[in-house]
Amino acid sequence: TLTKSQELIQQTSKFGANNYHPLPIVISEALGVWVKDPEGNEYMDMLSAYSAVNQGHRHPKIIKALKDQADKITLTSRAFHNDQLGPFYEMTAKLTGKEMVLPMNTGAEAVETAIKAARRWTYEVKGVEENRAEIIACIGNFHGRTMSAVSLSSEEEYKRGFGPMLPGIKLIPYGDLEALKEAITPNTAAFLIEPIQGEAGIVIPPEGFLKQAFALCQEQNVLFIADEIQSGLGRSGKTFACDWEGVTPNMYILGKALGGGVFPISCVAANKDILGVFNPGSHGSTFGGNPLACAVSVAALEVLEEEKLAERSLRLGAYFKEKLAEIKNPLIKEVRGRGLFIGVELTVPARPYCEKLKEEGLLCKETHETVIRFAPPLVISEDDLQWAIERITRVLSK
Ligand code: PLP
Repeated sequence: TLTKSQELIQQTSKFGANNYHPLPIVISEALGVWVKDPEGNEYMDMLSAYSAVNQGHRHPKIIKALKDQADKITLTSRAFHNDQLGPFYEMTAKLTGKEMVLPMNTGAEAVETAIKAARRWTYEVKGVEENRAEIIACIGNFHGRTMSAVSLSSEEEYKRGFGPMLPGIKLIPYGDLEALKEAITPNTAAFLIEPIQGEAGIVIPPEGFLKQAFALCQEQNVLFIADEIQSGLGRSGKTFACDWEGVTPNMYILGKALGGGVFPISCVAANKDILGVFNPGSHGSTFGGNPLACAVSVAALEVLEEEKLAERSLRLGAYFKEKLAEIKNPLIKEVRGRGLFIGVELTVPARPYCEKLKEEGLLCKETHETVIRFAPPLVISEDDLQWAIERITRVLSK
């Protein structure tokens, strides 16, 4: 007879499209950094739903906000005002230091929004001829799975069979300032960059690149757009990964932890000269800015601030990285990262190690074949981190 987990996995693969390759574990309960399967086995979450659960699973304050709001009003559409949108706007505007915010639901939708804003800005503000706008992105990027986002991708498998792709896109090697210089033309709308590439395997640009690229963009009247969907909101040990080089991008794209792992919400934030290009009828989303998401998001951002999760990530991440670097195994090529956003690159496939770590009670996911990503919820305690380090050291030493 099958266990409950096996039954559920069978049902999932029988009726579901086959667009993911999950580890064979079913999660049915969670709190903080710990998750449980239907059989009652406990695991530590070292992925945090790709950094959407920075505040920890079911953070009490965020769950309270969800429940309280669910008892009042959950959706109005933007045909009417709701009483939660204003507070959300003010909070995200202050956090990013920007004048305007536009809410969507998923990360990819916020990326779409950023591209639309950048293109329209290019025609209406910069004065480029219609339909000529170009976006520069980086090889190895991940901006989501919509048509625009896969059009930006350098991964053939993300695009195969989905053409035609969106035109007006140029790719440069990540961190290559000369290539950026060469790629910019009078028609360039924006340079779109993850200040740390997450899905590519926690790739950090050469020191000074963000700062120099930003300066170049300002000089050339090109928007510098930071996709901080995964790297932002404390993950890298600063509020935003751009903070590592003191860069304030022209536009931030946020998602994931913006909803505290509780409810999807994303947004772009920029000044009026950019987001002001949207007028009624030009963009929107039925669920974008819904009161449930806004109430959850305000609570999620308050948790980040009240619990100083960026500082916590910085401190614990430095310790974690140091301990990982001490592991002696010739198969480890590099340990890199910022804050609790760490990649261990191997010279061999990472999947078998993730499976062994699962047997030890740790849930990790490989990224790009050879990289194990360690990104626990930022609320992780010192003791829990120590527990994890002992097991990771044991598994990776073999
Ligand atoms: N941008 C970055 C940097 C991401 O890491 C992701 C998700 O992994 C996305 C965009 C897409 O977000 P979503 O999956 O919510 O559409």
